[in-house]
This record gives sequence, structure tokens and C-alpha cells, in this order.
Amino acid sequence: MIRFDNSYARMPQGFFQRVDPVPVRAPRLLALNAPLAARLGLDADALDAAMLAGNTVPEGAAPLAQAYAGHQFGGFVPQLGDGRAVLLGEVVAPDGARFDIQLKGSGPTPFSRRGDGRAWLGPVLREYLVSEYMAAMGVPTTRALAAVATGETVLREGPLPGAVLTRVAASHIRVGTFQYFAVRGDTDALAALTDHVIARHYPDADGPLALLDAVVAAQARTVARWMGLGFIHGVMNTDNMAISGETIDYGPCAFMDGYHPGTVFSSIDRQGRYAWANQPNIAVWNLAQFATCLIPLMGEEGPAVEAATEAVHRFAPLYQQAWMEGFGAKLGIDGDAHRPVIESLLQMMAVQRADFTRVFAGLACGTARDEFTDRGAFDDWARGWRALDPDLGAMARANPRRIPRNHRIEQAIAAAVAGDMAPFQRLSQALIHPLEDRAEWDDLARPPLAGEAVHQTFCG
Ligand code: AMP
Ligand code: MG
Ligand code: MG
Repeated sequence: MIRFDNSYARMPQGFFQRVDPVPVRAPRLLALNAPLAARLGLDADALDAAMLAGNTVPEGAAPLAQAYAGHQFGGFVPQLGDGRAVLLGEVVAPDGARFDIQLKGSGPTPFSRRGDGRAWLGPVLREYLVSEYMAAMGVPTTRALAAVATGETVLREGPLPGAVLTRVAASHIRVGTFQYFAVRGDTDALAALTDHVIARHYPDADGPLALLDAVVAAQARTVARWMGLGFIHGVMNTDNMAISGETIDYGPCAFMDGYHPGTVFSSIDRQGRYAWANQPNIAVWNLAQFATCLIPLMGEEGPAVEAATEAVHRFAPLYQQAWMEGFGAKLGIDGDAHRPVIESLLQMMAVQRADFTRVFAGLACGTARDEFTDRGAFDDWARGWRALDPDLGAMARANPRRIPRNHRIEQAIAAAVAGDMAPFQRLSQALIHPLEDRAEWDDLARPPLAGEAVHQTFCG
């Protein structure tokens, strides 16, 4: 049995629509995250395929689709909402932390617009692998509790097998949730939402300005962590930016193989709006939208605008600090004092498209050099770096041996579509132990061969 305590379902009318998941033909469990179930205090036996597919609604759940708006690639959409997900409810873990349990791909809702409310197996497995990898690296993120096959076909570019992901999050409240009420001029709802997220995520914040400060700081830390892993979110729309600071929506995300700051994977990101190096700028852009929503709650407009603007501008120093600490740790040095050492390495890597993960992971053991074509230039840099007496222990903790390489994800998906879950399971195990050197997983660490590289991702 799952003990639910559904605080969002107690929010005022207009925050959500009550809707049950739509049953599927033949639920079949593909993956169950036992360590996460334990962390939530859930009995793994209560998590059967029928429930995880939405065919049975567990006692105490109050399934609902959340309302939200959002800027998609800069264009504002006043109503988005959960079009293919339902929040089953919330559970409180043994340590007191509260988590949303959401089914994604669970059928149409009042917010589906023209969509079918479903997900296909590919994006479900991608999100499972990548979000659990992020969690293993200590990056704030939503988690994956389970993946089930539906036994139904979903129509995308062609017929594809359907699946449902059970997603766990501190909450699914987004910048877009605030925008939904702001655009409607519903200040009472904004105040209620602000109280809810303060109580839930930032209990030390004493009002909307302090909340803004806390979210700015949380996002600065999260985005800096993405950068240090070569992670490209791919769709940083305001509806995909969580107020909790967790990474959310793994649709077209990917990790860089060869390093270049302009890297983009998403097929729909033609302008490079969400390119790797642009992510902190977009975070600021999104936070400015969040700040705009809070201004009506902040008293007299002139001073409120000024205070909110200052709060958004605090992103830059916080992000710089987190970036410097992160890349400093990756090189085992004090990033603040030796910024040019970091920057000159990145510059050299960009010119030579050196593998982002292998360079950092290989510095301590001397194999980084192999990632460069101009070895002389690398040797010159390495002499200067070694003279700083780098902390190899810090480097071993900061630099993953493996990332979820795009071609490996695609291979695991292709095998799963053909009915073989073994490559997914193997990749999944390798990815949740990202700091361990293990020869059996060496093939998963290596960059794609020329014919293997995958350069594009899709929203799914
Ligand atoms: P995303 O691009 O994943 O952030 O989704 C943007 C919006 O589109 C959200 O409101 C989603 O719920 C909705 N959406 C995405 N895919 C579907 C689908 N297959 N059916 C219905 N709504 C969808
Ligand atoms: Mg989304
Ligand atoms: Mg998505």
C-alpha cells in the first residue's frame, strides 16, 4: 500500500483538472527502480505493472493534470498543462521529504490539445537512463521510478511501442505554473502558489522576493552542474524549468561527445537557442519571467521591479562561483585563482573537438593526451596545470568515467523495441556507478565511432 498525502490536490480550483489515467491494453514492467522505491519508503510489491501503467488507481491517490503556461522557444503559450501526464499524488518519505508520483504517457487529459497523451518507449527509456544518471552524479533532478510497456502502438514518424514512465519529483511546479496565473491576472492564485512552494521547497524564504532569490540560487547551481557534465537540456522552455531547481523534461536532451560550446542536438532548436554555452543565459531569461510573475505580490510596483531585477542579476555571480568550483574540481585546482588554466584547456578542446568526458577523466591517469590531435599544445598546457599540484582525489570524485552517450542510448532503445531489455539494463547499471573504473564497461565509456555518432534528438 502507498500512503499518499496530496497537498496539490488541496489547492484551489483552477490549479488542475481531476482526471484518471487511461487504461492500456497490456501493461508489462520493463524497469523498476528498487533503490528509489526504498528511498521513498515504498513497498516495491505495491508497484505492479497495472498501477504503473495507470490501469488501476491506488487507494489514496487523487489523479490530476496540472495547469501551466510557458514560453516555448521564446513564444508565450498561455495554456499548456499536463497533456500526457497525471500526478497520482504525493508521498512523504521516511526522512520527511515530499515527492510527487507522476505517470507520464498516461493518456489524454483536458490539456492534451491535439496530442494523443501518450509516450513511446524511446523517450521513456532515455529519460529513465539520463535522469538516474544525473541523480547518481548528485545533480538536482526528477527521478525515474519505473518504466512499463503498454502493449499499444503510438503513432509518431511511424508506429512505435507505447510506454509509461513513473516520474518522481520534489514537485512538478514550474516557472510556467506561475505564468499560468500571472497572465490571467489571478493574484490570489499567485499568492496561494507562492505560499505552497515556499512551504514545500524553501521554508526559510519569508516572501516572494526571498523565494525568487532562492530559486535563482538553485537554478544557478543546477545549470552549472549541467555544464560540468557536458549536458545539453535541449528544451529550456519556462514550462520545463522547475521551481525546486530540479532538472526536468529529458525530451531532446543529450551529452556532448566532442567538445564545442555551440553544440545543439534537438532537431527543433534550429537557432541554437538552447546550445550548451547558452544555457546560463536562458536560465536568466526564464528567471526574469518568473520574477515578472511575482512582482504583483511584491508591493508598490516601482520598487518591486527594481528588487526583482536585482534578484535576477544575482544569478551571474552565483553561477560563476558554481562554475568555477565545478571546473576547479574537475581539474583538481582552485578554479577562482586559476581560471585561465580552465579556459585555455576548454579552448584547446573546442578547436580539436576533444572528447569532453574522456579529457577530464583521463587527466589524472595520463590518457587525456590521447584525446588531442595536437599533442604538443596539450603537453604545454599540462605542464602548467601539473605545476599547480592538482588534487587527484577531488578530480576522481568530480569527473565521471561514463556519460549516457547518445549512441548507447539509441542502441539500448533499438534493442528494447526489438524486445531485448538487456542492453538497457547493462547501460543503466553502468550509468548509476559513474565514478567507478570497471573494465567490463569500457565499451560504454568510449566515444562513438564515425558511423555510430548520433547528432540529433527529438522531443518524442
Ligand atoms: P514538452 O515539449 O515536453 O515540454 O511539452 C510541452 C507541452 O506539450 C506540454 O503541455 C505537454 O503536456 C504537451 N504534450 C507533449 N506531448 C504530448 C502528447 N503526446 N499528447 C498530449 N500533450 C503532449
Ligand atoms: Mg515539458
Ligand atoms: Mg517533454
